[in-house]
This record gives sequence, structure tokens and C-alpha cells, in this order.
Amino acid sequence: MRILIHIDDADQWREALASRLPEAEIFTSDQDAVDDIDYLAVWKPPAALLERQARVKGIVNLGAGVDALLNNPGLPQDVPIVKLRDAGMGELMADYVRYGVLHFQRDFDRYQRQEASAEWREIPVVAKVDWGVGILGLGAIGTHVAQSLAADGFSVHGWSRSPKQVEGVTCHHGDDGLNELLGRVRTLVTLLPDTQSTRHIVNADTLAALPEGATLINPGRGPLVDESALLEALGPGHEEGRLRGAILDAFPTEPLAADNPLWAHPRVRITPHMAAPTLIEEAADQVADTLRAWEAGEPVTTVDREAGY
Ligand code: NDP
Repeated sequence: MRILIHIDDADQWREALASRLPEAEIFTSDQDAVDDIDYLAVWKPPAALLERQARVKGIVNLGAGVDALLNNPGLPQDVPIVKLRDAGMGELMADYVRYGVLHFQRDFDRYQRQEASAEWREIPVVAKVDWGVGILGLGAIGTHVAQSLAADGFSVHGWSRSPKQVEGVTCHHGDDGLNELLGRVRTLVTLLPDTQSTRHIVNADTLAALPEGATLINPGRGPLVDESALLEALGPGHEEGRLRGAILDAFPTEPLAADNPLWAHPRVRITPHMAAPTLIEEAADQVADTLRAWEAGEPVTTVDREAGY
């Protein structure tokens, strides 16, 4: 089996895969152009690489989100794609979201503002059980996050395309399900893929359906959120608007432009798409298992190109 890797830390990936797949010949895309490749293991490859390798048996996306790959103009039509499923990212994401939820539930945002004017005032705590958290997207990562927060004692609601049952989580689906969820949550977390049907799912209407003073955490994808509706719902300055605050990790264009008003907004926290980076060792286990199964003709779960995830 001949594998070609394209990712920033390709040498590390090559070592990790070589130790798990001793039978494979593994190349990185910075080596001289190689042909007769069976599988690509890639993250944001150039279109020319995909065009050149159009006859591969399969492509492994070295991340959980496939939006960049599916939008790549060089992507061959009929080649099956496999993406990473959790592979350790669920726990990193759960930490990110937990930090964000606690930031608001334990009023760290408000204490930060009080600190600026040396104001010593304790704010009564809202119990976790009375703090509804809505997770949009109950996939490999979303489910892990939802269950972690439920185990912490928060009242967790989840939303997916198809009906789901997740222990400890109130599950909703479809348009009606979304409205039910929105009315009940103080923190909305977006862990959906970026597809045609999820773009701007957080818009003026969805934000208006949240209770007054709700909060938003978006570690999913930038296009999920309509930025002007978000700024409108936040209102300007330190005074809390309909939306109390937001924590954002993903943006339609990254890096986020220096003149984007979100940087300067006092009730917005920004992180540079760091919520759940791919962990090479855990991911390499999964990639090696997938490639072995693929090569043996066993079933593997592939990306639904039409659905976009
Ligand atoms: P999955 O593909 O496993 O799951 C996607 C979930 O979204 C599924 O529950 C799916 O529903 C649901 N969904 C998709 N479309 C719709 C829709 N139109 N309406 C309602 N629900 C929908 O994704 P992961 O959990 O692995 O990852 C989620 C996202 O997190 C990734 O796509 C990526 O964008 C982001 N991410 C961000 C990272 C970061 O560092 N910031 C790191 C890793 C991921 P159903 O179950 O019914 O199919």
C-alpha cells in the first residue's frame, strides 16, 4: 500500500504511520512527485496534488471538518473520503466548552468588568442544573461534549439532523426541535459541520429565540454564525445586550482580520482556532485502522458528500 501525506507536520505523521503500518510505503508531498499512490492522508492539500492523484482508492481527511476538502476544486469526483472521528479531539473540545460555559455560569465575564472599576460585589450563582446548555451537532465530538457537560451537572440539550438518543442529554432534531432547544438554553454551543444547510444557522431569528441574556460559544465553523446578527444581538460596549457575550474560535476567514470589530468587542473572547487540535498519536491509530480495513475490503464509514459531512 502506497500512502501520500500532505499536512504541515508531515514528517511526524509519516513516522507515526510507518510504525503502525510497516507494510506500507509512505511519502510526503514535499518529496519528488510520486505516482501510483493508493491512499492520500491530507489536510488542506493544494488542488494540483488532488488532481495529480485522482486515481487513488481513498482519501483520509486528517481532521474532523471536511468543508475545506469538499470545497477544493481539485477533489476527484468518485473517490471515497474518510474523516477523523473524535480521535481525542472530543475531550479537548469538552475542555474548551466547559471553560466557556463556566466563564458565563460563574460570572467570570462580569467579574472581569467589575475588576476594571475596582468593584467588589458578589453575584448570586445560578445552579448548574438550572443552566441549560444547547449543543448544535451531536456527532463524534458534539456527543462527547454534551455527555461531559451533562456529567458535570449542566442541563444539556442536543440537536442533530436525525433523531438521536444520548444518555443524560435531551435530544432534539429538525426545525421544531431547534426552536424547542433555543428557548431553553443559557449557552448555545455550535458544533455543526459547515454545509449549505448549516450556514448562518445562528442568525437574527435564532438569536432572538434564545432567552434574554444568553451566551454563545462557537468552536465549530465560522460560517455557522451570521456575524452582523451576532454584533447586533450583543449590542455595543460593556453594557450587556440581548446576548450577554460570546466565545469564538472559528471564523469565515482565518486568521480573523485585524480590523474585524469582534476583536475590540469587550464581551467577545477570541481564540485562534485552537479548541481541539488533531492529536497525532491518537489520530494515527485511527488512520492506520482505517487504511488497513480499506485495503482488506472491509466496510469503513465514509463522508456523505451530498450532506457535506
Ligand atoms: P460529525 O460529522 O461527527 O457530526 C456532525 C453533527 O452535526 C451530526 O450530529 C449531524 O447530525 C449534525 N448536523 C449536520 N448537519 C445538520 C443539520 N443541517 N441540521 C442539524 N444537525 C446537523 O462532526 P464532529 O462532531 O466530528 O465535528 C463537528 C464539527 O466540529 C466539525 O465539522 C468541525 O467543523 C468542528 N471542529 C472544530 C475544531 C476546532 O478546533 N475548532 C476541531 C474539530 C472539529 P446527524 O447525527 O443526524 O447526522
